[in-house]
Amino acid sequence: MSLNQTVLEIRERQRIKSKPYDEPAAFWISKDNLRGDIVDVLTIIFQTSGCYWGKQGGCTMCGYVYDSSTGEPADSDIMAQLDKALAQAERRKLERFMVKIFTSGSFLDQREISTDLRKQILKRLADDERIVAVLAETRPEFVTEEAAQDCLSVMGGKPLEYAYGLETTSDKIRRESINKGFSFAHFKRAAEIAKQNGIFTKAYLMLKPPFLSEKEAMEDILNSIDEVAPYAETVSINLCNVQNGTFVEKLWENKEFRPPWLWSIVKILKEAKTKHPDLYLMSDPVGAGAKRGPRNCKICSRDVADMIREFSITQNVKTLENVDCDCKLLWEKELLLDDITFGAPILE
Ligand code: SF4
Ligand SMILES: [Zn+2]
Repeated sequence: MSLNQTVLEIRERQRIKSKPYDEPAAFWISKDNLRGDIVDVLTIIFQTSGCYWGKQGGCTMCGYVYDSSTGEPADSDIMAQLDKALAQAERRKLERFMVKIFTSGSFLDQREISTDLRKQILKRLADDERIVAVLAETRPEFVTEEAAQDCLSVMGGKPLEYAYGLETTSDKIRRESINKGFSFAHFKRAAEIAKQNGIFTKAYLMLKPPFLSEKEAMEDILNSIDEVAPYAETVSINLCNVQNGTFVEKLWENKEFRPPWLWSIVKILKEAKTKHPDLYLMSDPVGAGAKRGPRNCKICSRDVADMIREFSITQNVKTLENVDCDCKLLWEKELLLDDITFGAPILE
C-alpha cells in the first residue's frame, strides 16, 4: 500500500467537528522578528474548505486538515472570520503589528479562497495603518506571476511574504517520510517568481519527520538550511509533534516514533546562525515538554523551549547558552545509538 493510501485510510476514520462558518479555526497574538524588527503578530487560521492535498491523503504529520470546514464557507463568512480576529487586535490595543494568514491549506488556492476574496482580504489589511506587513502561507504550485500581481495590486506597497511548508530540501525525505506532493524545484520556482515581484519568502522546515534517526534529521535540517538560504529571507524550523489523526500518531502509538529532542534544535540554530548570520532563523517549539511534543527531560524542557523562543526573537546565538542540563548526556548517547533504530525511541 502506498504511503498516501495509508494516510488517507487514517484520515477517513476521523470526524471533523463542524463549526459556524463565520468562526476562524483559530487566532492569537504573539511576537516575532520581522526581518530585524521585533513586532506584535496577529496570526489567523481561516476556516476554509481545506487543503486539497490533505483531503486526498497528504502529509504524514498533518492534523491541520481537521481544522477545515465541513462545508464551503461563503466569502462573507470568511470576511466575518477576519473581522473577529482583527477585533482581538483592537481589544489588545495593538498599534503596530503584522498579520499572518494561514488556511490549513493554501491562501492562493482558489478552491479555498477565491481571487476576489483574496483581494478583499489583502486590501482590508493593506488599508489598515496599524498593520506593517502581511504573510500568507501557500503550497508553491499556486504561486504564479498572475497571482503575485493580483496580490500586489491591492497591497499599496505594504510588504508581503509568502510562506511555504517546504519541510526539507531533500526530495527523497519529502516524498518518503512526509508525502508532501511537491519538489524542491517547485519551491525554487515559486520563490523566484516571488522575488521578481518583490514578495519575501519564508520557508518552514520540519525537524525529524518519520523514519529518520535524530542524527539524520539534524543533518537533513542543517543541509536544508544551506540549500534554502539563497531563496528565503526567513527559515522557521517546526519540530515534528504528534497530532491527532495522523500517520505520525500511528507510529508513535506503536513506539516507532519519538519527537525530536530540544537539544537538537538548539545545536542546529547555533550552527546555522553562525554559518548564515544574515538569515532570519527561528523555531517555535509547539507542545514542548509534552508526551506528544519535542522534549528533553522533565526538568529542563520548559526552560529550553523558552530559550529557543528568545533566540527566535533576538537572533542572538548567545541566548542559546543560557540553559544547560544533565540530560544533554543522554541526548548525546541517543545521537550515537539511534541510527540503528530508524528513529524509534531508545529511551522510552
Ligand atoms: S501539511 Fe500543509 S500541504 Fe500537507 S496536508 Fe497539511 S495543510 Fe496540506
Ligand atoms: Zn534536561
